This record gives sequence, structure tokens and C-alpha cells, in this order.
Amino acid sequence: IRKNPSESEFHQAVKEVLESLRPVVEANEEKYRREALLERLVEPDRQIKFKIPWVDDKGQVQVNIGYRVQFNNAIGPYKGGLRLHPSVNTGIIKFLGFEQTFKNSLTGLPIGGAKGGSDFDPKGKSDREVLAFCKSFMTELYKYIGADTDVPAGDIGTGAREIGYLYGQYKKIKGTYEGVLTGKGLTYGGSLVRTEATGYGLLYLTDEMLKANGHSIKGKRVAISGSGNVAIYAAMKAEQLGATVVTVSDSNGWIYDPEGIDVAALKEIKEVKRERLTEYLKYRPQAEYKEGRGVWSVKCDVALPCATQNELHLEDAKVLVENGCIAVAEGANMPTTLEATQFFLNNKVLFAPGKAANAGGVATSALEMSQNSERLSWPFEEVDKKLKQIMVNIFKNMSEAAKEYNAEGNYVLGANIAGFLKVADAMMAQGIW
Ligand code: NDP
Repeated sequence: IRKNPSESEFHQAVKEVLESLRPVVEANEEKYRREALLERLVEPDRQIKFKIPWVDDKGQVQVNIGYRVQFNNAIGPYKGGLRLHPSVNTGIIKFLGFEQTFKNSLTGLPIGGAKGGSDFDPKGKSDREVLAFCKSFMTELYKYIGADTDVPAGDIGTGAREIGYLYGQYKKIKGTYEGVLTGKGLTYGGSLVRTEATGYGLLYLTDEMLKANGHSIKGKRVAISGSGNVAIYAAMKAEQLGATVVTVSDSNGWIYDPEGIDVAALKEIKEVKRERLTEYLKYRPQAEYKEGRGVWSVKCDVALPCATQNELHLEDAKVLVENGCIAVAEGANMPTTLEATQFFLNNKVLFAPGKAANAGGVATSALEMSQNSERLSWPFEEVDKKLKQIMVNIFKNMSEAAKEYNAEGNYVLGANIAGFLKVADAMMAQGIW
């Protein structure tokens, strides 16, 4: 806190992880202290911050700030998304890069942790403006990334369109056709299932967690927040598995559709028309749209926060528990505050933390990297099967780690420990760097 006083989200993420690691650290105290393992773990390998000038449709030059935080490459090349949102700052990118290190480790695949982005807001911009921004962003970013060095991907505000524009500019500058970004279109090196992967993976893990505790997702009422990439495919898979999704939201308001969200309509509104959620009523007049927060006030069995960090507070957690919610799984990164997480754990709500629950996206990105390396494309069913197996393994690993450290059912502790052990071992094996 003394070193980075304004980085509150980063402090929050570090606090949660370090508290979980207490039993492991106590068992290895002398060694970790001598090697300053934790001090090295919380410090990114490098942080890059740069200006992104671009020209808007009125001929006015705009200047945004770009970030890439390469956190830890002990187990593989840096890997993590690029967030485009006006709230982006160093603390947010550092928290995401820190979390990403453990998440990537949990997938069992050889990928290190990183994150990047910009305070650019793609909302309301023309295609030409987004292209101008992406070109300028990549004109600086390309110096620091590469298929074996650092492989960025999408995140909030960075979807297929932005990845395409960024990839085009990288190729133009470098002249090489390599898997430097994931989330690419299917005609130029993208992987089937990558678009769906985070949402689908979230449901595979949620169902696994429910089954291990005597329940199943089938027949459950599910509340989802957000209406972006993660939320859409979480809703789709939940409905495929026999659940009823009753809410989605955006930063202005939320939809309550007790008969079940119409996912095809949602996809068309968000992915094709790029419209706001109010449009949903044109497709489903019987649904309700309410302004502001409130998505967690509906009665549900399972809550899936899929929008952004710190969107589910202690008061929301209390209402969810009162309404009979039995499970929460984080589609977004750190959507639940520390107090709300603790409240769920204290009240025996099954709780899957984001670094495990939303790891399906980056896992499938790693599968995209493998396909790019062998210059092949695997069929949808094959990638989906691998994704499911990865999510099942993540659940198994985090639940076994929790059990081993006398905290059965505490998947927060289990995920943090399981993710940490592999990174720590690799760091110590590679000497001091
Ligand atoms: P999108 O940009 O596709 O969608 C984000 C959604 O969250 C939108 O509905 C958006 O509403 C809402 N939202 C964003 N910021 C805020 C805010 N400050 N307050 C309220 N609502 C907000 O992003 P993704 O779906 O890709 O990402 C969602 C979350 O999942 C993020 O935490 C991301 O880091 C995480 N994640 C994503 C992965 C992926 O593969 N895409 C992988 C792993 C994690 P609005 O349109 O009004 O801004």
C-alpha cells in the first residue's frame, strides 16, 4: 500500500490471495522468506504505459493511455486480455494481471500472467474511430508482444472487431503471420469455441460444483449480471443445461424476464446491433427493464456475476442468501467484494472464485495458440470437450487443495493455493529473476 497508494483493486486482489496462502506460507516460511518469494510474486515483471494518439471523425486528435503489465512468466509466455474502458488505470490492470497469473496456472496449461488495455471507450465510436485507435495502440504495443513472448486477447470492450483491427496492424508492422493475439476470427487463425468459452466454461464448472454438493444446474433459476461476451454465453449454456436465466444487465439497468431470457434476442441486440439493453423489450414486451443496480434482488438459486469488478456488495450477498441462493460463481474478474465473499462462505453458499470459474476463456485461448503453432484448426466438439475437461480438472484441483489444507468446500482458498503452488515451484526452480 505504501509503494502503490492509489491501486485499491490491486491491494484487494493481493489481500485475498495472500490470506488464502497463509497455511502454505507458514509451512515453508524460511525458504519463502529467504527467496523473497511473495515479494517477487506481487511485483510485476514489467509495466509498460504509453500514449495512444488517434484522430476522431471530426478531425480532432484524441490521446488515450495504453497499458501492458507483464506480471509473471514462470510457467509460460505472458497471456491475458486487453480491456478498453474509461475506468482503466494502473491499479485495475495490475489486479487483473496478478489474478491472471494464478488463473492461468490453474488451467494446467503453460501460460504466464499479464493484462493490458486503455482508457479508450469504444462505446458510441464509429468503426473508423475504433480502427484508428486500434492501429495507434498496436503501433506501440507490438514492440512488447509476440507468439512466444506475450499473447494478448479480448476483455471488456475488446471483442472480435477490435482483435481483428489489432491483428491487422501487428501483421502490417511485423510482416509475420503468427498467433500473437487470441480471439481471432475463424478465417484467420481463430479457434472454434473461443467466443463461447468463458461463459460455457463458467457453467461447466458451476454444474460440477453443484453436483459435488448434491445439486445440479438443471431446473435452477439463475441470475446473471452483464450482457457482454461472458454473460451471453453463460446464459446460453445455462439454458442448454436446463436452467432458467431470469436476469441480465448493463451499466445503465437490468432486465427481469421470469420465463427465461431470450438468448437469441440478446445476441442480436448486443453482437449485431450493438444496442443497449432497453431494446430487449421490443423482442419480449412481457419482460421488465429497471434502471440502476438491482439484479441481485430477484429470487434465484444461482448467481453468476459476469459484468465487472466489485459489482456484488455485502448488502447484495445478504439479499441473495435471504432469497435462498445456494451457489455463486464469478464469470467476471473479482465481481464480489471481500466482505460479500466472506459472507457467502460464512453462510455455506457454494462460491467459485473468478480465477477458477472464468478460466475457460484463457484456457481456450491457449488451445488457439496450440492450433496456430501446428497450423491446424480443431473441430468445435473437440475444443468444447477439452474445455469441459479443463473446467472439471480445475474444480477437482481447487477442491482437493481446499481439503488438503483443512478447509473443505472453501474454493477461494483452494483455487489460490492450487494456482500458487505451480507458479512458486517454477519460480524457485528458475533461480532469482
Ligand atoms: P464485455 O465488454 O463483452 O461486456 C461487459 C459487460 O459488463 C457489459 O454488459 C457492460 O455493460 C458491463 N459492465 C462493464 N463495466 C461495467 C461497470 N463499470 N458497471 C456496470 N456494468 C459494467 O466484457 P466481457 O463479457 O468480456 O467481460 C466481463 C467480465 O468477465 C470482466 O470482468 C472480464 O475481465 C471477465 N472475463 C472475460 C473473459 C472473456 O473471455 N471475455 C475471460 C475471463 C474473464 P455496458 O455495456 O453498459 O458497459
